[in-house]
Amino acid sequence: MRGKKKQGKLIAITGPMFAGKTSKMIQLLDREKYSGNSVRLFKPKIDNRYSKTSVVTHKGEKLPAMTVTVDANGIDAIIKNSADCDVVGIDEAQFWPPELNLANTLNDFANSGKTVYVSILNKDHTGKPFNNTLEVLALADSIHSLTSICLKCGEDATFTQRISKGKEIFGSQIQVGGTESYEPRCRKCFVAKSRSAKGR
Ligand SMILES: [Zn+2]
Repeated sequence: MRGKKKQGKLIAITGPMFAGKTSKMIQLLDREKYSGNSVRLFKPKIDNRYSKTSVVTHKGEKLPAMTVTVDANGIDAIIKNSADCDVVGIDEAQFWPPELNLANTLNDFANSGKTVYVSILNKDHTGKPFNNTLEVLALADSIHSLTSICLKCGEDATFTQRISKGKEIFGSQIQVGGTESYEPRCRKCFVAKSRSAKGR
């Protein structure tokens, strides 16, 4: 045993959309609060689907959050505002461009003794890893891998399909939306870009 310094860790929460990633984040951060730890939660400015000052789940649970821009200033804001807290939460980490190395910043936090929870979408709407997902998951000490329910067949869903009026559509990686634009699919029901382009 080496002294009293707390062991830091990086804990990822991943899965497709509608898998309850943010609910899990709120639950885990609430537990940290009850244990007496100071908690700070950050969310990207791009995502203002429900609330600008809190992180809110599809079910309406919420936790106060600081909104930061997904650029170098946002990274600085996270570092500055995390200085005096034990636990850092980062919601919707897939929106951070890979070149900003958010994963490295979070890894540094863990090395300095903080507990870091990061929620991140597993794949984009074409089934590929989303932005910095691979880095975040590789650096994590543990991963909560969540599934949703396939809207086509009811199996466990690990994919997120982008849809428009019930049809699969493809475009740029980042496009914020809810149930009108996305649905969870299992591996079998997920339509990949190439297959769809060939068939139509
Ligand atoms: Zn299915």
